[in-house]
Amino acid sequence: MSTPLSLSEQGFSRPYRVTLIPGDGIGPEITEATRLVVEATGVPIEWDIQEAGEEVYEREGTPLPERVLESIRQNRVALKGPITTPVGRGFRSVNVALRQSLDLYACVRPCKSYEGAKTLYRDVDIVVVRENTEDLYAGVEFEKGKTETLKLIEEINRYTGKALRQDSGISIKAISVFGSERIVRFAFEYARRNHRRKVTAVHKANIMKYSDGLFLEVARAVARDYPDIEFEDRIVDNMCMQLVQKPHLYDVLVMPNLYGDILSDLGAGLIGGLGLAPGANIGDGYAVFEPTHGSAPKYKGLNRANPMAMMLSAVMMLRHLGEREAASRLEGAVAEVIREGKNVTYDMKPTPEDPTAVGTMEVARAVVERLKE
Ligand code: NAD
Repeated sequence: MSTPLSLSEQGFSRPYRVTLIPGDGIGPEITEATRLVVEATGVPIEWDIQEAGEEVYEREGTPLPERVLESIRQNRVALKGPITTPVGRGFRSVNVALRQSLDLYACVRPCKSYEGAKTLYRDVDIVVVRENTEDLYAGVEFEKGKTETLKLIEEINRYTGKALRQDSGISIKAISVFGSERIVRFAFEYARRNHRRKVTAVHKANIMKYSDGLFLEVARAVARDYPDIEFEDRIVDNMCMQLVQKPHLYDVLVMPNLYGDILSDLGAGLIGGLGLAPGANIGDGYAVFEPTHGSAPKYKGLNRANPMAMMLSAVMMLRHLGEREAASRLEGAVAEVIREGKNVTYDMKPTPEDPTAVGTMEVARAVVERLKE
């Protein structure tokens, strides 16, 4: 596989055309707040607004119409709000479908603590690089009781000599050499580009020898191509404990899909919560920037959600477009609002009921004020 080019290297130029997906729940509010602050940086962006998610599903019978994918294919970059996935019913995850359709194989989730945020530790600065297309999230599943599931159970029992129960549901965990190599290489390239010192591969190879074991074997081989960057590995359960106790020992972490999902929330917890955790889904052709958090439906329309995770995702997007100076200004403005602690939402206050908490749009206005200084 080739090393992904940054979009500026791909010849992007001003004004940028960016697909904007407001999403569900708190999505539209945090998207509006983010759009306001991005526009205040002065970077010229034409937003190509595309609806996806629950309401589109009600109207059109699909939560992810082809025109949304087409828009991203054309613009090659998108900023996306969270989209609800009904649990155990209705449509499958739009987020997973988007990552698979556009082959956005790398999910990059920086977990960086800003001064003033409620955190256990100061100066945490780790980056979770999550494989985005394989593993248990590939959506290869067999429902309990279906004919094909019963046949599969019979075959598995015949081949392995095991006795899987007839009333089992099955999710397949497949990890390939191809998928492992490109994500680990991505992590090392990211480390090099961003002057990081170490990559840690996270796995459970002691138990899942043929899937996680393969991932680790490939990671070790790829690491040999990057002698300038330290490499080590950790078993995922130990990694969780280490991150809670000694996050400063870690730098770039690379791992299969499921562990990445879980550890990036753990990382968000280390830096003050989901409201501060940005993310990017990156492939060789396209990039979709979105916060780590979901649609928090209970806060929909209440002007209560923290827009900073999405603003920081926009910072990543600006960097990706080559707008490094504007990205740093926006990140600095958000950091300053956090440090001041006056114009922040409920989740960043000592208690959620704190009467001094402000709303989503007030945070946006405070960030815009900082940008003007
Ligand atoms: P969630 O991240 O939406 O919410 C968990 C809790 O975190 C919320 O109750 C809220 O207290 C807090 N929270 C999250 N974002 C916040 C913000 N910006 N400001 C303040 N507080 C915030 O997770 P969930 O409740 O498990 O999921 C809700 C829906 O979102 C589900 O349908 C899920 O599938 C979906 N989801 C989507 C994405 C995505 O679009 N990429 C990611 C995760 C979950």
